[in-house]
Amino acid sequence: MQAIATILREMEGAVKDPGGAVRAFKQETGREVIGCLPIYVPEEIIYAGGMLPIGVWGGQTNIVQSGTYLPSFACSIMRAIMEFAMRGVYNDLSAVVCPMHCDTLKCIGENWKVGISEVPCFCLVYPQNRKNPSGISYLTTEFEHLRKKLESLSGRTITDEAINQAIVIYNEHRKTIREFTRVARDYPLTITAQKRHMVIKSGFFMDKAKHTLLVKSLISELKALPAEKSSGIKVILTGIMAEPDSFLELFNQYNLVVVGDDLAHESRQFRTDVPAGGTPLERLARRWAEVQGCSLAYDPEKRRSNMLIDMVRETGADGVIVTMMKFCEPDEFDYPILKKEFEKANIPHLYIELEQQADSAEQLRTRIQGFAEMMSTR
Ligand code: SF4
Repeated sequence: MQAIATILREMEGAVKDPGGAVRAFKQETGREVIGCLPIYVPEEIIYAGGMLPIGVWGGQTNIVQSGTYLPSFACSIMRAIMEFAMRGVYNDLSAVVCPMHCDTLKCIGENWKVGISEVPCFCLVYPQNRKNPSGISYLTTEFEHLRKKLESLSGRTITDEAINQAIVIYNEHRKTIREFTRVARDYPLTITAQKRHMVIKSGFFMDKAKHTLLVKSLISELKALPAEKSSGIKVILTGIMAEPDSFLELFNQYNLVVVGDDLAHESRQFRTDVPAGGTPLERLARRWAEVQGCSLAYDPEKRRSNMLIDMVRETGADGVIVTMMKFCEPDEFDYPILKKEFEKANIPHLYIELEQQADSAEQLRTRIQGFAEMMSTR
């Protein structure tokens, strides 16, 4: 247990002080740190250039200045990112990459260029028709532009070979985190909902090779222990993210155990590997073509609900919690279909609206408590 506590402490340190991780990397290597806005930035290109990609997903803060660029009905993740950027919190970053998946991200990409002069913003436009050859070829070209921008920023060449090596490291990381999420189901008392989230999130602020080693050690320490018995209500989380922190704190209090997720902040990052075959940039473009069940990736067949229903069956989950990021249009458009399909499959679900800046957990508490009571009487 001591070893597990030590690993978790190291991960928590990265989550609590991402700025420290950025400064430490720059001091050790003298190289650039690149912020990656949500989601599907081809981090392998950045990594192959000897730079550190880190996740930029906002955080809890008071929104004071960013109203100049984003209205109050923009999602709170982007309002927080713009707020932090305007306050200079990201000034240690050498650049940010903004994938323009939704209207709010499109606004951020453009507003950043006007409002944040200290940190360059490299925008990426993803094709909606992502599976056909022209979509893949277009995205390959977008990634080539990104490679050139990163080369000119760093003054170093980013070779195909280096990108292929980075893909190996990233695919290994994805495989390891997937294993962690499976193993964690057997240890719900040690790996609580908050700790599960923290383990995954810490990967945003560490070198992926180092994070893979840490997670592998954690898995082997866990496996050395007997599986833990829990009478908790097993749930799957779906949505963009499960923050603010006060949200997952409630899971312990009301005996909810996370047995799987479909969060953009978590499993959507690592459930799709980069496929083999072709040039490394084509491979990265084909990963986008292979993404399934994500509200940001166009799917005329809307298979997200079926994926979730399968996940419920595989994990033996008792229900699903839809963590709706307030004002997130792509996720809001999916919800009526999810609701209809969950009801048809007789799967209980809770729809809960989240905001990163929520200053009170009381409304969340009432909803979670009500759900837990309802589930325990089924
Ligand atoms: S997808 Fe949703 S949460 Fe993400 S930036 Fe767009 S509106 Fe915000």
